[in-house]
Amino acid sequence: AAKAAGGGRCRVFADALHERAVRRLTVENDLRRAVDEGELRVHYQPVVGLRDGLRTGFEALVRWAHPRRGLLLPEQFLDVAEECGLVGAVDGLVLEEALGFLTRHPCARVAVNTSARRLDGTFAATVAAELRRRGLTPDRLTVELLEGSLALGDPVTQAELRDLAALGVEVLIDDFGTGYSALSYLRRLPVTGLKLDRSFVTGLPQDTGSDRIAAAVATLAGDLGLTTTCEGVETAAQARHLAAQGWQSAQGFHFGVPAPEERWFPVSSGSC
Ligand code: C2E
Ligand code: MG
Ligand code: MG
Ligand code: MG
Repeated sequence: AAKAAGGGRCRVFADALHERAVRRLTVENDLRRAVDEGELRVHYQPVVGLRDGLRTGFEALVRWAHPRRGLLLPEQFLDVAEECGLVGAVDGLVLEEALGFLTRHPCARVAVNTSARRLDGTFAATVAAELRRRGLTPDRLTVELLEGSLALGDPVTQAELRDLAALGVEVLIDDFGTGYSALSYLRRLPVTGLKLDRSFVTGLPQDTGSDRIAAAVATLAGDLGLTTTCEGVETAAQARHLAAQGWQSAQGFHFGVPAPEERWFPVSSGSC
């Protein structure tokens, strides 16, 4: 019976591997087509100042308007995009779309998520050229990088971050607290701010562990001169709590869900 059970587990494992491989291939081929045929969409989620609740900008979040499967979220295809080298194309499309958004809405600011893979020595120059081509000032663009994906010691990464900072683009470490979290690197990396991961916000205001961590990170970031944003704010109580801790900005369903551009700008504004 034990042997049979073991074999059964093996079979389950093999089936799971097979299923994963099949899914990967299916999604990969499908995604290549989607990129070419323009099925990727961008939704925008407002970022607000916690002192006054006023909107300061948006985060651009990729969606896939799949012809059969409906609107897909990043978690349903970004891992495959990373694995098969398509994430650069995805990020590139989102950047283009987000810069178009800035052109259409002269008072808006926008943040884009970027895989650290794109920091290959050409990224900062590409961003600079795209901004210049459209006559946009760099201070309207923010680049968000996942903490865990940063190759901290890598000189090319360092140079890219320095070039972005020199350009005047804001650079945030996204999902802060979920990666290696060696706080010392905040001193070494030329980034302008951090975004606290929503896992530290969810339990607020009751959870004391989250409370201490959020408070400590706000203090530390402030002392280091970094901008502070928190994500996943779903209630007014959380917003009040984080504001009292000194967090500058926030994002979350409490303030607004990610939605198409028309939701935030029903008529093309054209001016401020
Ligand atoms: P992220 O950059 O941390 O983005 C925030 C995510 O949290 C978004 O999920 C957003 O919809 C969700 N969110 C916002 N407010 C709340 C809230 O109050 N409660 C809860 N439960 N969730 C909230 P989304 O859009 O599914 O994106 C997931 C992740 O995919 C992003 O996390 C980002 O890391 C990645 N991503 C999105 N767009 C791109 C892209 O264009 N390029 C790359 N490389 N990654 C992207
Ligand atoms: Mg982000
Ligand atoms: Mg985040
Ligand atoms: Mg996150």
